[in-house]
Amino acid sequence: MISIKITGTIINYYIHCKRQCWLFGNRINLEDNSEDVRIGKILHEIKSQESKSSEISIDNIKIDKITGEYLVELKKSDADLNSTKWQVLLYLKKLKEKGIIRKGKIEVIEKKKQDKKIHYVELTQEYEEELDKLLLDIEKFLSSEKPPIAERSSKCKKCAYYEYCNI
Ligand code: SF4
Repeated sequence: MISIKITGTIINYYIHCKRQCWLFGNRINLEDNSEDVRIGKILHEIKSQESKSSEISIDNIKIDKITGEYLVELKKSDADLNSTKWQVLLYLKKLKEKGIIRKGKIEVIEKKKQDKKIHYVELTQEYEEELDKLLLDIEKFLSSEKPPIAERSSKCKKCAYYEYCNI
């Protein structure tokens, strides 16, 4: 059974950067200061207006869009597709627990580009097992007293915690 406190954002951050995951999961939230995060939120608003669908909330997760076949996650970049994949797998599992079976579709709508890229993911038995293990690992990780040290890389440039990690 999935812990109620682990959101799609937390699982995404855990794959992307464990320090970011710990900071966010322990409510050190600097995201509103990030230009990149603001752009992402605006993009979400525009897209949901265009598709005349609104974000759907189930338990503690927010789903961008749901169709007869797919759960759709909107992203502004596919720079870290693996993180998004696990986020979507968590959503698919949450839906499955409610008796709603869907496949995952990740739509990447990049700034200044007309075309969108689409990636698909399905919740297989193997992914479900991996996900259960991952969620246990994350719960344990978040209960640790301190965040891991910052391992700086190119992914830090657009991170909301950039200044926090560099003071
Ligand atoms: S700035 Fe870099 S090290 Fe710090 S939380 Fe963000 S991605 Fe992780």
